[in-house]
Amino acid sequence: MNEIIIGIDLGTTNSEVAVVENGKATVIASGGQFILPSFVGLDDNNQIMVGEPARNQYLLYPERTIKSIKRLMGQDTVVTMAEQNFTPQEISAIILKQLKAVAEQYLGQTVNKAVITVPAYFSDAQRQATREAGEIAGLEVVRMINEPTAAALAYHNEQTESKKMLVYDLGGGTFDVSVVNIEEGVVEVLSSHGDNHLGGDDFDQQIIQHLLSHLSDQYGVDAASNSKALARLTRAAENAKFGLSEQPYVLIEEEFLLEHQGAAVHLSLELSRMEYEAMIEDYINATLDATHIALKGANLVSSDIEEIVLVGGSTRTPVIRERLVNEFGFEPHSEINPDLCVATGAAIQAGIINHQQIDQVLVDVTPYTYGTSAIGHLNGEMYPFMYVPIIHKNTALPNRKSEAFATHFDGQEKVEVVIYQGEDPDALNNIKIGDFLIEGLQDVEAGNVLLLTLELDLNGILQVSAEEKETGLAKSITIKNALSQFESSTLESAQQRITSLFGQIDPTLEAEQDAKAQTEVELEPVSDHVKAAKALIEKAESYFDKVGAEDKEDMIDAIENMTQCMDADDEQGLAEASEQLNDILYYLDQ
Ligand code: AMP
Repeated sequence: MNEIIIGIDLGTTNSEVAVVENGKATVIASGGQFILPSFVGLDDNNQIMVGEPARNQYLLYPERTIKSIKRLMGQDTVVTMAEQNFTPQEISAIILKQLKAVAEQYLGQTVNKAVITVPAYFSDAQRQATREAGEIAGLEVVRMINEPTAAALAYHNEQTESKKMLVYDLGGGTFDVSVVNIEEGVVEVLSSHGDNHLGGDDFDQQIIQHLLSHLSDQYGVDAASNSKALARLTRAAENAKFGLSEQPYVLIEEEFLLEHQGAAVHLSLELSRMEYEAMIEDYINATLDATHIALKGANLVSSDIEEIVLVGGSTRTPVIRERLVNEFGFEPHSEINPDLCVATGAAIQAGIINHQQIDQVLVDVTPYTYGTSAIGHLNGEMYPFMYVPIIHKNTALPNRKSEAFATHFDGQEKVEVVIYQGEDPDALNNIKIGDFLIEGLQDVEAGNVLLLTLELDLNGILQVSAEEKETGLAKSITIKNALSQFESSTLESAQQRITSLFGQIDPTLEAEQDAKAQTEVELEPVSDHVKAAKALIEKAESYFDKVGAEDKEDMIDAIENMTQCMDADDEQGLAEASEQLNDILYYLDQ
């Protein structure tokens, strides 16, 4: 057998090592962690520290810790760590040596060769410095490949058809976007653009600043001048950011953060995803501007791109996916863990060099999108069944996502939650897979926030829960076979089947309430048109005391028409009368 070659992603913020074994690309964990923070430090006893321990000491002892050394690669400079000077190659070599050791421990043999990834924009000097770092670490760098090439390889290691892809890579400290062409298995970077100083760290900084001003307003304290407090806030900010990738609100709590005028300062602040997205909007805009520059560099336009691959931990930020979907009109790929995708591709390249047979990287993903419906705008009109996707198709499993919704009427004490599977912006064109009623909500004004959480596991079991944010009142159901339910049939035939079942309880539904909810959940055997009409009427009624007499009269006429049509089972008439009421509401909304 050929000598083993490992694949290494030597990143600015984090690094990883992977290897192809028995045809499979495997990222190697050390102490349960796949990611090695790209931090190097010296402790009190001049002992070297790499990864998490070095990262932990960074905020307290920056003079003894080095981070982001990749930014200095190729420069004729030195960095100082605990009063000793090191070249960038030496610091990178310490990280590489650690990764080599991790691989050796896992494989039980010495490793001497590696494929290392570098950014597509790296100059000759930067590539040379990377090669030298490998040598210092005792690794022959058999090939250096561009990071976007590695990401493309992770997704398409045996691809024979040609394809134009966009690799959007947003890490901790850098952003790179590349246009990649795959032709007969050859991956070529057509153009690349980015920002060497834009990434998740900037997002953290925005949250930190927000926390600092809150503490300053609340307690008149400058927490930034206390390094321990700042270290805690930095951690808390990053954790809050992680939370907001999954849920619409987070509570940031740090007890006994510091002392001020003899009293303890406790931090407790809620941050919403909406506030956070406003904080990072300029950064996201900058990444999209860079994307257009990269497209231009490849003489392409958005519609030429057939696939988008998300790389880098920061691409888990939901608004990034949303903006890309708006821009390109299709869902980007993120099935392969975006932190590990480049290392996976590096290992695949190493396997190819070694003539190893390599299987396609297989990950469990959901082939369907799951979501709910809410009142919103569809085709420029108010519509009570606008589809709100929550778990998107092609995302890796298991997956858990929450979204916030608000009640529509004052005093609304119940909400019917309907769960759909499908992609259509009109929820009624998707497949309804379960519903339940959450009742007993507080008697408060419209806008009472409900958190809807969907959790889909590898076995296709979908847990759905709705929770009144303020009181914690919750209701949940379990939908079995959410993944396999429609696998054998096309969406159309499933839709036909559902349509033909109008008026009956759908026997294919396997919505199972959890024990607590069992007696309360009911499936409503009512046609969706009738439901839509009823929701519309309910909405119109909520306008009664806000509109003039003439408008109110028009609404009452339309409602009467609708009611008569419902009583007479006149679907066509109901559609027309609903349209009439919809028009009035639309006009009132303007
Ligand atoms: P990378 O350099 O690709 O490893 O990416 C690291 C960056 O991704 C750091 O800024 C992390 O805070 C960020 N990151 C990791 N996980 C998440 C997440 N779930 N949501 C948002 N950012 C994340």
